[in-house]
Amino acid sequence: MADPRGFLKHTQRETPQRRPVPLRLRDWKEVYEDFSHDTLREQASRCMDCGIPFCHNGCPLGNLIPEWNDLVRTDRWRDAIERLHATNNFPEFTGRLCPAPCEGSCVLGINQDPVTIKQVEVEIIDKAFDEGWVTPHPPEVKTGKKVAVIGSGPAGLAAAQQLTRAGHTVTVFERDDRIGGLLRYGIPEFKMEKRHIDRRLEQMAAEGTEFRTSVNVGVDITAQELRKEFDAVVLAGGATARRDLPIPGRDLDGIHQAMEYLPWANRLQLGDPVGDENGLPPIHAKGKKVIIIGGGDTGADCLGTAHRQGCESVHQFEIMPRPPETRADSTPWPVYPLMFRVSSAHEEGGERVYSVNTEEFIGRDGHVTGLRGHEVKMVAGKFEKVDGTEFEMDADLVLLAMGFTGPEREGLLSDLRVEINERGNVTRDANFATSVPGVFVAGDMGRGQSLIVWAIAEGRAAAAGVDRYLMGHSALPAPIKPTAVPQR
Ligand SMILES: Cc1cc2nc3c(=O)[nH]c(=O)nc-3n(C[C@H](O)[C@H](O)[C@H](O)COP(=O)(O)OP(=O)(O)OC[C@H]3O[C@@H](n4cnc5c(N)ncnc54)[C@H](O)[C@@H]3O)c2cc1C
Ligand code: SF4
Repeated sequence: MADPRGFLKHTQRETPQRRPVPLRLRDWKEVYEDFSHDTLREQASRCMDCGIPFCHNGCPLGNLIPEWNDLVRTDRWRDAIERLHATNNFPEFTGRLCPAPCEGSCVLGINQDPVTIKQVEVEIIDKAFDEGWVTPHPPEVKTGKKVAVIGSGPAGLAAAQQLTRAGHTVTVFERDDRIGGLLRYGIPEFKMEKRHIDRRLEQMAAEGTEFRTSVNVGVDITAQELRKEFDAVVLAGGATARRDLPIPGRDLDGIHQAMEYLPWANRLQLGDPVGDENGLPPIHAKGKKVIIIGGGDTGADCLGTAHRQGCESVHQFEIMPRPPETRADSTPWPVYPLMFRVSSAHEEGGERVYSVNTEEFIGRDGHVTGLRGHEVKMVAGKFEKVDGTEFEMDADLVLLAMGFTGPEREGLLSDLRVEINERGNVTRDANFATSVPGVFVAGDMGRGQSLIVWAIAEGRAAAAGVDRYLMGHSALPAPIKPTAVPQR
């Protein structure tokens, strides 16, 4: 039972401080200071344990938020991690990286600041790792069934852990040289240090999950070979086809996709010998005027990376208008609020430019030197140019962070001949089964570009579908059915 007066005693929401900007720009470590557990317990006590906890519904994993809030309030951390792990395989990822739709639907948020749910989540798992409570849970009985998981992002890892624990022999195939998907090579170190992935992989390997890196399924192994060797397949290859900007000048040097730029910085932090004599990777922002096209999280990751590399200036362009300071009328409680947000990268500098469209890249001797753009306004659901607002801006590095159009079709998917839906994603039914018997799909590959929390939820649900397909029944929890909820 929660403290019924907690939110009256502690009216202020408190979150950890970010390290001073000049200090954190000198390294790549996570930006947040430690948070005192006494303050955390006060914050957890603001949870009212509502009769209808809307946060459960806000969280795609159905995390049992009021239960672990109260366990933290009463100092029962070991019970808290058990309740948290009951619904979430990787709270260390979501506790750091989730945009926390749960907080947008917290009942306290109707007329006060919501409970700091995400902070409670990350503190529970960090303490659990520190105390040695995160141990392997190998299955007691093996089923003799073999499952291949293609892709090692959060969806593939969640599916693999669930299926291994259910007794199946699971192999995760990853075409990159390291496991982790976008957690490893997309998300920068300053948002999540990669040691968090490595210690979770240790647990998974000790449970019996096998990892095979640098294997591009559909190229290095054919789909037919895979089907022959494994009783079931989970496709978790992500939505890696990048949206481009095919305007005049696109072929100039110095214009790159965000995912051509970001992985180099992560590789350097991981100790790969990819730096030149100044320690800079092949694509870098040092001393450059940078323009990032795309105002979302990927763009913000480019922004934080460019600052750490020592860029001269940086502008982040967004075609949409600037969101309102508080929850937009179009997203009333308990819907995830559309509003202006300042991520740690935005706090570090750069200029955000809204309602602009890029018309043409300009260059000299084959290299980009700037771009031409203009302001836009929305008229009847379409962007229209605002006359007289044309401008030119200098740039010697342009980064395209405009999202992803879906999974790549060549190779794996065309080889398997799975059906693709009208949105360009792999079609799946309520069990996360594709049109090909024995082949399942989870995460961005079936959902389209989305979030880590959805990838984990889908990985868990797909694992339950696979288990049922192989055994005729399953005790694995299936948190969600495929839904048409808005995607990121
Ligand atoms: C730069 C960036 C920052 C982001 N930041 C956040 C954030 O802060 N919070 C958040 O919630 N979400 C964020 N996202 C979105 C989030 O990372 C994705 O929604 C999530 O990783 C999807 O998980 P997934 O497992 O479906 O796919 P992915 O993480 O994309 O993993 C797919 C993996 O499959 C591998 N693969 C593909 N095809 C094959 C093949 N044929 N053979 C072998 N391997 C293959 C790929 O190499 C990749 O490693 C971000 C995305 C980007 C690009
Ligand atoms: S996973 Fe995300 S939505 Fe769920 S409780 Fe954690 S922060 Fe909230």
